[in-house]
Amino acid sequence: MKKKNFSSVILVVGLLTMQHTDTYRHKGLRKELAAKLRTKGISDENVLAAIGRIPRHWFFGSDTIFYETYAYEDEAFNIGAGQTISRPHTVARQSELLEIKPGEKILEIGTGSGYQALVLMLLKAKVYSIERHKSLYERTSKFLPSVKEYLMEHLEKEKVKPAEPAKRTWKNEPEYWNIKCFFGDGFEGLPMHAPFDKIIITAAIPEMAEKLLAQLSVGGKIVFPLGTEDNCDMMCWTKQNDNDFTKEVYGKFAFVPMLKGKVS
Ligand code: SAH
Repeated sequence: MKKKNFSSVILVVGLLTMQHTDTYRHKGLRKELAAKLRTKGISDENVLAAIGRIPRHWFFGSDTIFYETYAYEDEAFNIGAGQTISRPHTVARQSELLEIKPGEKILEIGTGSGYQALVLMLLKAKVYSIERHKSLYERTSKFLPSVKEYLMEHLEKEKVKPAEPAKRTWKNEPEYWNIKCFFGDGFEGLPMHAPFDKIIITAAIPEMAEKLLAQLSVGGKIVFPLGTEDNCDMMCWTKQNDNDFTKEVYGKFAFVPMLKGKVS
């Protein structure tokens, strides 16, 4: 093998193995990240625990190796196709605003890297996630099962600690290990699977779409950034009946825009 080819092979093997390495250092960085989010006002302990469990450094695609520490900063990051994985604070804030109860059916618009979907899954939601970029849809739907498998093993190990006595095992609750990915335009929602208990939009939407509101159960919540890329307000609307919503605003955030149509 020529020297150049050999180096390429080493690099590829390195990238592949790094992508599934999760060291004590990574775990420590995640704990620090969760602690930082607590100081920034995130108070839902289940959300913080989920952030503390997911190896975020696996979500950045093949150049991850260079950004292993950066993965645990409270920063957004490029994931390809001109899109980003949201900042951990944003993921945590949206997740806690949803007030998820175990077994709830959640529609996520903007699968992206799949990180947010996994946080929702660890909160025991059944997640239906839709992405308009085919390349991201394909990559993420192939990648998520391996992370799910890893997390399942991890939680099984955690449970045997004396500090966490006899709970039902995660393996006995397979319905909670449920993320379904779809390639499509989020403005249409997923009428075949509606109604949803909660809806989360992870891209800035200039105005709310009636079709999405119609797919939300009465009593359900929709959490979404309303506005344009660098100027959107985090909204949480609760459906009182088919025509009325209580509307709350939770400050300014930055998101990539929600765009119409699919990209093949
Ligand atoms: N939740 C993602 C964040 C991704 S950024 C994560 O955890 O990584 C927002 C995502 O929304 C992008 O992947 C973008 O392609 C997607 N998106 C934008 N408009 C969309 C639409 N109309 N339908 C579905 N996905 C959309």
